[in-house]
Amino acid sequence: MCGIIGIYQKDKKHTNAAKLAAYALFAEQHRGQESCGIAVSDGNKISITKEMGLVKEVFTEKKSKKMDGKLAIGHVRYPTKGKSNINNAQPYLLNTLSGQSFALVGNGDIVNYSNIRKQLEKQGVFFESENDGELILKYLVFWHIKKGLSIIESIKKIMQNFQGSYSTLLLIKNKIYAFRDPYGNRPFIIGKKDNTYVFASETCCLNIVNVDFIREINPAEILIVDEKGLKSTPQNPNNYRTSNHNAHCVFEMIYFSRPDSIVYNHKVYDFREKLGQKLAEKESNIPDIVIPIPDSSNFIALGYAKGLGVDFNFGLIRNHYVGRTFIVPEQTIRDEGVTQKFNALPDYFKGKIVTLVDDSIVRGTTIRKLVKMVRKNGAKQVHIRIGSPMVKFSCFYGIDTPTREELIANQKTVEEIKDYMGADSLRYLTIEDLKNLVDNNKEFCYACFDGKYPIKTLPQSHQVPKDKFLF
Ligand code: AMP
Repeated sequence: MCGIIGIYQKDKKHTNAAKLAAYALFAEQHRGQESCGIAVSDGNKISITKEMGLVKEVFTEKKSKKMDGKLAIGHVRYPTKGKSNINNAQPYLLNTLSGQSFALVGNGDIVNYSNIRKQLEKQGVFFESENDGELILKYLVFWHIKKGLSIIESIKKIMQNFQGSYSTLLLIKNKIYAFRDPYGNRPFIIGKKDNTYVFASETCCLNIVNVDFIREINPAEILIVDEKGLKSTPQNPNNYRTSNHNAHCVFEMIYFSRPDSIVYNHKVYDFREKLGQKLAEKESNIPDIVIPIPDSSNFIALGYAKGLGVDFNFGLIRNHYVGRTFIVPEQTIRDEGVTQKFNALPDYFKGKIVTLVDDSIVRGTTIRKLVKMVRKNGAKQVHIRIGSPMVKFSCFYGIDTPTREELIANQKTVEEIKDYMGADSLRYLTIEDLKNLVDNNKEFCYACFDGKYPIKTLPQSHQVPKDKFLF
């Protein structure tokens, strides 16, 4: 999972696209905290800054001021595949021998990465990372420069031959292209005000750059923005996929996206409240108090407490500077992270029947520690309610749940998980209840819950030509 941003300023007097991109990336920081980067074009030359670390550390006022230009694309990284190092940080920049420059950022995961990479390597294409952003860029430039296809035709080649998810931005000197995979798996939107166009993963970044939300980018749509304005090349996504449906990631709405975003035309906070209300409808254990596991479950817990008509309060206080513990790569560090991250307010627990609400259980690390903490703080009973179904299957499209063995719901029954957590009861939302809350629910991917992977594996048909090619 990652966050991306693209800024195009048509107005001659504006040249602070990189600064706006930095602001927007800051608003998308929850989508990845490992590295960040911005490529900026003054209409002619592209320059790039990328470093490990948070947006506010990398893009200081002083640094962003120096990055003059009317066009910028940016990225925050949340590692799924590939090591945690600067080579895997985006954007990628490619300068060809003929003097053209291309920069690219993407959010998603390419399932057939290894095959396509091997094909390109056979043609002499060199890779410096394990990142799919680099793969998309080099594939695209390969077809454009070496085979003479237009950029649009090269993007269509990607849609024919790449499997997986990719919300992508390509910057060439005075244009930005935006394209989204045919299943629309990761969120991708456009905003605009006056002569400034913005492409982004999430709407929550539009306020800070002062543009209005226009719409989602459609699956398989290709957009170009340049001095003539915005132009769309709509395409039939069914030409590139094996089913007639989109596969929007439902987990974005449960956990990943910010509650103030509109994702796949759903208000995220509202959707989460409804998840909680749905849980409440089937409740037989009425607690004294409902406590969210902050922050991602706040609205789910609120909906649940409202549905039951019981007390709701923030009994667990989160240290916001720790980051998302889940993202830390090793288990030992992750375990410590939970206790570094939360403190309990004993007044909300002493002598009470408590229900802790979380959005999901993945490895089971977070809640297990919290149940202990809450008991230590005097809770009489501790119940757990989860605003999503059991996460039993790995995601191959960008959420970091790579091996099934790591998923506690794949290893244990609900009863066993409850015992492992040390809780008095545990209940998840059912898949049916979840689907009933999603508008157009056929257009969504639930693979992490039901193991039905909608982005089918296509036959390998990469038409990379046999002759040697070097950039
Ligand atoms: P775990 O502690 O391993 O069970 O992870 C579940 C906790 O991490 C929940 O509190 C979620 O809010 C959060 N979470 C769920 N999925 C992810 C993910 N893919 N990346 C980061 N955090 C996640």
